[in-house]
Amino acid sequence: MSDALKPGDTIGILGSGQLGRMIALAAARLGLRTHIYCPESGPAFDVCAQHTLAAYDDEKALAAFAENVQVVSYEFENVPANTAAFLEARKAVRPGPRALAITQDRFSEKSFLNDLGIPTAPFAAIDCVEDLEQAVAKLGRPSVLKTRRFGYDGKGQTIIREGDDLEQAFTSLGSGACILEGFVSFAREISVIGARGLDGSFAAFDVCENEHANHILSRTIVPAHAAPKTQSVAIDMAGKIAAALDYVGVITVELFLVEDAGSERIVVNEIAPRVHNSGHWTLDGAVTSQFEQHVRAICGWPLGSPARHGAIEMHNLIGSQADDWAALLGQAGVALHLYGKHEAREGRKMGHWTRVLPE
Ligand code: AMP
Repeated sequence: MSDALKPGDTIGILGSGQLGRMIALAAARLGLRTHIYCPESGPAFDVCAQHTLAAYDDEKALAAFAENVQVVSYEFENVPANTAAFLEARKAVRPGPRALAITQDRFSEKSFLNDLGIPTAPFAAIDCVEDLEQAVAKLGRPSVLKTRRFGYDGKGQTIIREGDDLEQAFTSLGSGACILEGFVSFAREISVIGARGLDGSFAAFDVCENEHANHILSRTIVPAHAAPKTQSVAIDMAGKIAAALDYVGVITVELFLVEDAGSERIVVNEIAPRVHNSGHWTLDGAVTSQFEQHVRAICGWPLGSPARHGAIEMHNLIGSQADDWAALLGQAGVALHLYGKHEAREGRKMGHWTRVLPE
């Protein structure tokens, strides 16, 4: 435990959203302090010991931040590479910059997975309309065109259907670097949230089943409707990915479950190098939450038990759904979490609630 933090030490977190907030709360429970660094104020600022409001390329502010913390982590995957490198030269950044570099680009992410023998949708790099014509001829319609970088919650992607104009599809995503993916006719979407410690130990929560509305996660249930074998294969994939990245912290692997003639197969959709919305249930439904697990891992502490307390349902509160907070407070068995965001804009994640029932 020579690299390990001690209670009273400070964790630096890039990003001030709800994920940073929940990491900070978990850290506080373990006697740790957090210093949040973000160009915009957000819900994490309300619950941290210190914050820095500065741009990600402000080297003076970054140097002072690094000086003030014992380890650096982040709550979102689009941390600029230069920022990660600048900080890495001064303090341990966990997970490391390689995990960021690979997961920031859908082409390098899928190539990395295939190199490990992990299946994904078939894909091709697209840099111009001619590339797209050739790839659509190979992967067929429907297929999914996505920007290589900066996509989230369905943004930066479009489905190419029969009759769709390819030039228009490419232009609609800004005519930049893209990938085309073969369409996966999945039965369900699932995710694995695992953690890898500084000592290489790995622990995963039970597989989550995720439903989306308007491309945003709306409900997670655990256990997922997936055969025990499928679940163990999914967890093994997450462990393999984490080991290959020499990863430290919580990692999320999103997968498609495909049913073929009565048997199940899974393909990875994407990796998130961070805690994840589909793991929020662990705050109320597991011995150790994903946020505490992340804190333990990046501090060089032993991982906690991911054991589940019962059958789980977690619902996101998007936009005006959070107006129901008072009614939710009155419902038996509901654990309500509100993120303290001031304005309930459409599509904005305002909070979530979880119910844990005996199995
Ligand atoms: P992503 O931003 O890659 O997570 O994609 C957002 C959502 O689009 C996924 O959760 C799926 O519902 C859908 N999607 C993405 N890629 C594919 C694909 N290759 N085939 C079918 N659906 C997809």
